[in-house]
Amino acid sequence: MIIGKGPCGEKIGYYELVEEQKVPDDMGTQTFVRWLIKEDDGAKAFAMRLFTIKPGGHINLHHHPWEHEIFVLEGVGEIRIGSRVYRVSQGFFIYVPPNVEHEYWNKGDKDLKFLCMIPLKPTVNSDEKIEC
Ligand code: MN
Repeated sequence: MIIGKGPCGEKIGYYELVEEQKVPDDMGTQTFVRWLIKEDDGAKAFAMRLFTIKPGGHINLHHHPWEHEIFVLEGVGEIRIGSRVYRVSQGFFIYVPPNVEHEYWNKGDKDLKFLCMIPLKPTVNSDEKIEC
């Protein structure tokens, strides 16, 4: 079984078999997401998404009352977190706290791919932006 659900509620899959959705233009450019594990799959606490930002692509500055746990799989990018910009590539991991602004760019000539985990429910009550 390459992709599917098992008798205990497990899900086993291969990422390329998960539909790739384009991120809407008001959220970013040249960016695609695969929801590998989500609430519909029976997940109780976290969703796992695989993002692909094409060369020159960008995810717009935004914030929200939940955190991100990110792992860079391939490519070269920059991520703004609050007032700082960090350069990242394969092997880097990033924690983005709730309500802190963040923004991503592909700075290489190949796809930038990263895993981004999110909780299924907001992790803080306020959605007020944190300046840092
Ligand atoms: Mn975000």
